[in-house]
Amino acid sequence: MGTTLQALLAAHPDTAPAIGAPGRTWLTYGGLRALSADIRTQLRSAGVGPSDRVAIVLPNGAAMATAFVTIAQSATTAPLNPSYREDEYTFYLEDLKAKALVVEAAYDGPALAPAQRAGMTILRVESDDADPAGSFRLVPDAAQDAAPEGTPGPDDIALILHTSGTTSRPKIVPLLQSNLAASAVNIAHSLALTPQDRCLNVMPLFHIHGLVAAVSATLISGGSIFCTAGFNAMNFFAIMEEARPTWYTAVPTMHQAILSRAPRNAETIANVPLRFLRSSSASLPAQVMEELARTFNAPVVEAYGMTEATHQMCCNPLDRQKPGSVGVEAGPMVRIAHETENRLIDGTGEVCISGDNVTPGYEGNPDANAKNFFEAEGHRWFRTGDQGAFDNDGFLHLTGRLKEIINRGGEKVSPLEVDGVLMDHPAIQQVVTFALPHPKLGEEVAAAVVLRDGAQADEAGIRDFARQRLAEFKVPRRVVILDEIPKGATGKMQRIGLAEKLGLVET
Ligand code: ATP
Ligand code: MG
Repeated sequence: MGTTLQALLAAHPDTAPAIGAPGRTWLTYGGLRALSADIRTQLRSAGVGPSDRVAIVLPNGAAMATAFVTIAQSATTAPLNPSYREDEYTFYLEDLKAKALVVEAAYDGPALAPAQRAGMTILRVESDDADPAGSFRLVPDAAQDAAPEGTPGPDDIALILHTSGTTSRPKIVPLLQSNLAASAVNIAHSLALTPQDRCLNVMPLFHIHGLVAAVSATLISGGSIFCTAGFNAMNFFAIMEEARPTWYTAVPTMHQAILSRAPRNAETIANVPLRFLRSSSASLPAQVMEELARTFNAPVVEAYGMTEATHQMCCNPLDRQKPGSVGVEAGPMVRIAHETENRLIDGTGEVCISGDNVTPGYEGNPDANAKNFFEAEGHRWFRTGDQGAFDNDGFLHLTGRLKEIINRGGEKVSPLEVDGVLMDHPAIQQVVTFALPHPKLGEEVAAAVVLRDGAQADEAGIRDFARQRLAEFKVPRRVVILDEIPKGATGKMQRIGLAEKLGLVET
């Protein structure tokens, strides 16, 4: 029997700070508890019951974090990217069957028309930075019949998100109260979070990483979270001075941007010592991990997460990191499955997981559920779509996503392996290896790279460098030098479709 977010928030002292932001009075734990009770009353009188779905379209920040944590204790939250266009909202709001939409008081953006067409209740957030508990209100656009009372239990859905859409059309993932609670506990445990810890949140709060690792794990452990309006390498260090965090969590592309600003911010780095840094959601090149650890003089723990696992599956221990590995089992059971047969194996194969933090299944997608879940050795396993193997110390090494493995005329090439080699080139700052369609081989290896500031390199030189360390079939046939690598909404580089995007294939 699992627990709920509400139960885990109950114990912290009334006066301890919980949620803050630049220029905003801290919302304390006492304030958060009182507000959560108020929000329940407001939701019920606006017709939102315990199992109704509330879409949240708010800019990143303390109001978004507060809306998520309070509403999740009384209904199902469905945070959506505030930069979507009207067609996207039409799709997501219908797909989610949302009952209400939460927006800012003066919001007049593209989520409004689709929500009104679907007959949803619009709830406008009113809040005052000087009194974040007392002033925070969800005000309905029109009066509604009251919904029945009730408190969500462990088996009710707390959070519903779509996957990032890196490899295919996003899938709907319902996550139970018990999934959210278990995952927050797993992460707090991996990071040894205490009430003295303060997280600086730069992650978008419409994605599992920020909602669970930054917000939920912090709050269940009684620490504080300082919310930014979103990641910006230009103001990161100024906010760090103000927030005085003990840690932050980010995706690798953010860490790389922070590193490029680090030399001119050495004083801040010395003034605000971090206990650790965390990286997740995409592969952290070993070189970047080492440079981060050196620059911040703190351990860099890489974790492995996904939406379907309510984020974390593996994490490098605080006292022992292996660059290039996503760490050890850190919550669910993590095993390797045969890629086409439903059985567990030793060696390299598809990573699969089983545990309290794993979604009961995709919504409205029986085909994906039939393909991705199987029973073996007395447990129900979920296939992650990632390929990897454990080493003798129990650390997991990913070799890539199964859909992204490059098949060069039958020879399989791991894009992550090629990335790792090219990252050792002194002029290369970022790399993404991808499949280039080829008439005879099916696929060829290609790579897009971003060079370091002021560094020089050309395609032939980079290929020669790769040739010294990789078998010929793994050496990229094409190396494209770019100013920036295209990324998805959550900051991930997308390998699938990159050849088309870069105009390397005739479509
Ligand atoms: P979709 O499932 O829609 O294609 P997505 O898989 O990118 O999108 P998320 O749930 O945000 O959606 O991401 C989970 C995936 O991110 C994992 O399956 C894995 O491929 C990748 N990932 C997460 N953490 C790491 C890591 N530390 N190293 C390498 N890959 C990682
Ligand atoms: Mg996925």
